[in-house]
Amino acid sequence: MRLILMGPPGAGKGTQAKFVAEHFGIPAISTGDIFRANVSEGTELGLEAKRYMDAGEYVPDEVTNHMVRNRIDEQDAEPGFLLDGYPRTLAQVEELDGMIRFTGHRLDSVVVLTVDEDEIVARLLQRAQVEGRADDTEDVIRRRQEIYAEQTEPLIGVYRDRGILVEVDGMGEVSDVTQRIFDALDQIAQS
Ligand code: ADP
Repeated sequence: MRLILMGPPGAGKGTQAKFVAEHFGIPAISTGDIFRANVSEGTELGLEAKRYMDAGEYVPDEVTNHMVRNRIDEQDAEPGFLLDGYPRTLAQVEELDGMIRFTGHRLDSVVVLTVDEDEIVARLLQRAQVEGRADDTEDVIRRRQEIYAEQTEPLIGVYRDRGILVEVDGMGEVSDVTQRIFDALDQIAQS
């Protein structure tokens, strides 16, 4: 099973990614988490990524693609994977296509979580208090939303055209959203 979980910052991707990955017995690969781990370990990659992350900008495609390629090559990702936060640009879509094609597999589904704007800002401000992430200040949150709209939203159309897009309502209880994702993916598996 090769899945992508998409949605604007604050849509709940990270939370849902863990449940969905566990359900299918595949690793959840979050580019944001990998970048943050590198930042806290002070690696070269972390130092490079931090400049962009703190400003709410995307890390350059080359850096991100290289990191994902290495992660997907690891043994635990052989039966499949769930990507959270990748791809976010059209260039990353192409790169991922190449990576998957190389392994002789295909991308099964792209799940997009839809959440309304006010709810998103409220969630991110709440997360700022709980987790204290450096990029959860109001200005940076707004910048991340803008960049998502500009660079990542167009990907939804690309995957819709391929017939592998699944839109799921991301509002409400966490467990309800998880169930909606399972229902949607089960339907696909049966069709
Ligand atoms: P959010 O879900 O709030 O957007 P993430 O934890 O997924 O946050 O990502 C945090 C930051 O890491 C992003 O704002 C960006 O700087 C960087 N990042 C994560 N994934 C990518 C990617 N695919 N391409 C470029 N930058 C990325």
